Amino acid sequence: MSVMRKPLIAVLGLLLVGPGVGAGRAQSAYVVNDGHFHLTNYVQQGTDIHDFLKIMGTKVGRVALFGIPLQQTWSYGNTGDFAPTYYLQTDAPLYYYSFTDAFIAMAYRSLTPAEQTRLDPMITGFNPADMYAADHIKRVLQTFPGVFSGIGEFTIHKEFVSAKIAGETASLTNPAFDRILDFAAEAGLVVILHNDVDMPFPKPGQDPYPVVQLAAVLKRHPRTTVIWAHCGLGRIVHPVQDQIGIVERGLSNPDLPRLYIDISWDETAKYLMATPETTQAVADLINRYPDRFLFGTDEVAPTEQAKYLKVYDMYAPLFARLTPEASEKLRKGNYERLFDAARLKVRAWEKANPR
Ligand SMILES: [Zn+2]
Repeated sequence: MSVMRKPLIAVLGLLLVGPGVGAGRAQSAYVVNDGHFHLTNYVQQGTDIHDFLKIMGTKVGRVALFGIPLQQTWSYGNTGDFAPTYYLQTDAPLYYYSFTDAFIAMAYRSLTPAEQTRLDPMITGFNPADMYAADHIKRVLQTFPGVFSGIGEFTIHKEFVSAKIAGETASLTNPAFDRILDFAAEAGLVVILHNDVDMPFPKPGQDPYPVVQLAAVLKRHPRTTVIWAHCGLGRIVHPVQDQIGIVERGLSNPDLPRLYIDISWDETAKYLMATPETTQAVADLINRYPDRFLFGTDEVAPTEQAKYLKVYDMYAPLFARLTPEASEKLRKGNYERLFDAARLKVRAWEKANPR
């Protein structure tokens, strides 16, 4: 156990022995909130939501919870009797699986009200290349009022994935994406967007158009709260030169007041913690913008707490380099501020727009 986590555990122990603590105080006893979590995988299988609450246990306070909008086809012609469960295991296409939203909503509704307060379900089952995508999101809110806080994680540019999706390829320049961001602002939904910072193997001097286009579209939607997942990193999309500069220019830009970054995914941690120097540079950036970063695991359907919190443990050296304020906000405070606001706004929108 790292030195910095001992006091937190001690605080946790003290609070747990005191009976009748209010929800707010009990909340503060948790070590972390998870801003990025998939309950189900690419074939829509996953952890039972009641088991997941046990895995959160006394360590994880709240979780932004979603399935995966894409279903991996089991194409017998491609893999025969081998049933793929991940997009890298077959060349068969992925397709948008809208039923995920009903599945997540029904799972959430099977919980007690106290259990529900620890989760912020997200809508994902829409095709971002479809002008009707915003209408799907609206319909989900009206069909399952009282459930959802946001949309995502959904994907525009993602290595290996975007090119495998059947139908029109999503793009940042598609007006369908503008409609989604407009509606998110109207309803108060938090957006978690996966968009790689660049293509996997850019030629020297190649225009990093994914990040240029991302800045342009977000500037058109300054009222929409957008969490840029994994700060644009991926399995093989590694930090473009000047990654810290790109993120810093985004966060310092007055035209992007509601841009946030999540540091979820062990693949992201791999890059951010590559050397003591990169870890320090990332810590310095978070210390300069303590209100703009969220922790997340990006775990998919975990079976035990140790596996679920692997990414949290990987980040211990980063947490140790943060100011106490930045560490608290990254791990818990920013999540609570964004999602508390979203809950209020989305519930108000649902009341004003009944089915
Ligand atoms: Zn994810």
